[in-house]
Amino acid sequence: MTITRFAPSPTGRLHVGNIRTALHNWMLAQNSGGQFVLRIDDTDAARSKEEYVDAIRADLKWLGIESTREERQSERLDLYQAAFERLREAGRIYPAYETQQELELKRKVLLGRGLPPIYDRGALELSDDERAAKEAEGIQPHWRFKLDHDEPISWEDGVRGAAKFSPAQLSDPVIRRADGSWLYMLPSTVDDIDMDITQVLRGEDHVSNTAVQIQMFTALGATPPSFAHEALLVGTEGKLSKRLGSLGCDAFREKGIEPEAIIALLSRLGTSLPVEPIAERAKLLETFDLSTFGRAPAKFDDADLDRINTAIVHNMDFADARDRLPEGMDEAGWHAVRPNIATINDVAEWWRLVTGPIEQPEFEAEDAAYLAQAGEALSEAFASGDDPWRALTSALKSATGRKGKTLFLPLRQALTGMNHGPDMGELLPLIGEVEARTRLGNAQP
Ligand code: GLU
Repeated sequence: MTITRFAPSPTGRLHVGNIRTALHNWMLAQNSGGQFVLRIDDTDAARSKEEYVDAIRADLKWLGIESTREERQSERLDLYQAAFERLREAGRIYPAYETQQELELKRKVLLGRGLPPIYDRGALELSDDERAAKEAEGIQPHWRFKLDHDEPISWEDGVRGAAKFSPAQLSDPVIRRADGSWLYMLPSTVDDIDMDITQVLRGEDHVSNTAVQIQMFTALGATPPSFAHEALLVGTEGKLSKRLGSLGCDAFREKGIEPEAIIALLSRLGTSLPVEPIAERAKLLETFDLSTFGRAPAKFDDADLDRINTAIVHNMDFADARDRLPEGMDEAGWHAVRPNIATINDVAEWWRLVTGPIEQPEFEAEDAAYLAQAGEALSEAFASGDDPWRALTSALKSATGRKGKTLFLPLRQALTGMNHGPDMGELLPLIGEVEARTRLGNAQP
């Protein structure tokens, strides 16, 4: 069975980049009847906040990306400790005593010589006496995972194809701080093993982590899952933008963007499939395939999202919109207004044309007289059937000889206060005869 996971650190809100990762992992699981685990990576007690855990859950719920189960790293520390001891006994973890400054200096020296800033394993050269001396000085070690330089690293990446790393080109990663707290690398591997994760899909910023973690899986006696790394999301200017890093569900909701628009865009962005306003998830799932993902950064453009959102609301059923519509607005109102909105937030503004108050322009005497005539024709138009607008305008057309704009515009202006807007044929029955008569009456000087 396919088991995927989404593993956010609750140190902030979800942003488009991690929403995309969550979505794709959810889709992979859905497509194979598998499981999708939400793993809260909260080993960093100082930066993790409960309010972010709640916000992550709420955002995923709003997006309809529901997990099969939830796990929290902070409740699994014993497992990490056990793996740590195992690896230490096997000689795969060693203590290191360098300070941040010392490490920084080593890095600078290497870079200055034009060499890659790979950790020199200085800590491995310490004798037992030297180590004891450090500890006697009160220096607590941090801990590194010792990569096996004789074990080349390779995997078949679900997006990038054949991937290869030479372990000597990587630094032995620090896995645990001097205060005993965990960095991301080892707990994540332990969890992926323990939770039987079969497929890890994440951003390409994790490619070198994967190289290291593959050796961790092996060192812990497990077979690594399959890995896929998707190209990062960039802004329209082609760069990783700060804005994208903070753009999340709150901002989308405030703008009136539908979750389905976000899902439609993020399902296909960066793939060879066209980005289309598809509101049915089943259809998106049907075409979802890692082999369609490209290696170039995927460009996130707000204009695309707006376009998709507009198309999705134009097709939205009353039942799906109902809870968010102004009070008193019925299905006919939704149908009248729907083609004129870009987001559901725009509904209220158009619905006000029905409920009033409206503000009319000043009419020239000739138009005022025409509108008075319209007032007189109103009862007959309403009595004629369910299309009073059509009846009214055709009666006025033959009575006055007006046509086109001179026939329609003064009526629209008097009845709605606007020069444009929803179809009058749909609006007039909603405004109703009594209110329409009042408005036409108000058009008199
Ligand atoms: N907590 C890690 C992150 O947010 C998880 C990465 C992973 O998917 O392994 O970057």
